[in-house]
Amino acid sequence: MRSQFSGDALVHEAERLGPIHVTTGFEAGAIEVAGVGDGGDIRVSLAADPISGDVQWFFFRVSGIAGRTARIVVENSGRVSRLEGREQVPDCWTGYRPFRSRDGQDWVRCDALYEDGTLTIPVPPGADTLWFAYYPPFPMARHTAMLGRALANPRARLEVLGQTPDGHDLELLRIGTPERGKPKVWLMGRQHPSETMAGYFIEGLLGRLLDPADALGRHLAETCDLFVIPTVNPDGCRRGHTRTNARGMNLNRAWADPDPERAPEVVLIRDRMRAEGVDFCLDAHGDEELPYVFLGGPLEIPSRTARLSGLFETYARAMERACPAYRLADPYPGGAPATADLRMAWNWVAEEFDCLSVLLEMPFKDTHRQPDPEMGWSPARCAAFGWATLEAIAAVAGSLR
Ligand SMILES: [Zn+2]
Repeated sequence: MRSQFSGDALVHEAERLGPIHVTTGFEAGAIEVAGVGDGGDIRVSLAADPISGDVQWFFFRVSGIAGRTARIVVENSGRVSRLEGREQVPDCWTGYRPFRSRDGQDWVRCDALYEDGTLTIPVPPGADTLWFAYYPPFPMARHTAMLGRALANPRARLEVLGQTPDGHDLELLRIGTPERGKPKVWLMGRQHPSETMAGYFIEGLLGRLLDPADALGRHLAETCDLFVIPTVNPDGCRRGHTRTNARGMNLNRAWADPDPERAPEVVLIRDRMRAEGVDFCLDAHGDEELPYVFLGGPLEIPSRTARLSGLFETYARAMERACPAYRLADPYPGGAPATADLRMAWNWVAEEFDCLSVLLEMPFKDTHRQPDPEMGWSPARCAAFGWATLEAIAAVAGSLR
């Protein structure tokens, strides 16, 4: 043990260390503390979403750790549920590296060990306070600032579709002047709150779409009628849920027949879509297991057609050219389902509107196409993918009908 002189008294460092605090009393904070040992072991459990019991997301602050050899032990990390057909894919914690921040703003990846169903994150010496998160949070203040920047552009305007169960606005950003014949392009993110990469993706996409110096962005803003819902589930995002809204509903399992009590967000968006029409839709998500960017097309819906398959192929090939981090050859694990699940937005929209509807899944870990040993699939790469996505939309915008 290190020691130091204080006047004439020898003061042992351990004796003057205060208690370690683990807190989640801020937006999107989520973890349950099981106990803090004298040796610096901080034992925690992932917090479960209401009703569904989904676990994955964590975001917490640890203070009082200077001078200690602390580590965080996530005791229930072995309890995450696996998706069907993923037996050949490593689970979400294998090869995963968490994020750490000294100020709650700037994030770096850190090492972790996953063994026998327990994730252990060593705490580096030096700092007294650190934040830890499953992926860098995308706070609602950042969502609001993103809308504010967009609304400075005369092409953009805001619609409030209605209120969420927690009393927040469900916001739709409209871009472009509606005209007969213009394709109606819908973009959505964060049905699943923990998949914050969708926020960074839409931030990058909007940045290009509304940059007056970017010819492609300007072209699309002039020739399309755009409907952007960056945060479909603002309650879940604020509460720090993994997949559900305030009523415990996984919104991406509600689209076929949404219950107005449990999934009012989906009712509001579906009504608006039916009033306006949809010619293209993209729904942005994150995948905790896949080591690559994945796109799903309207290939398994009951009313699938060669026209829709051809449009998806054109879109995916254009995406490959625009961003080599994506490859059409990276498959849906276990093979695509024989019949589409119409409870999912991507499938319901394609079936309802006979249109090209795309599911985007970005990795929480990294892409094996262009790995980044330091940051993995980072927020900056999400934003760059959003920027590049405009090229794929441009490739199909003239032939959606
Ligand atoms: Zn998702």
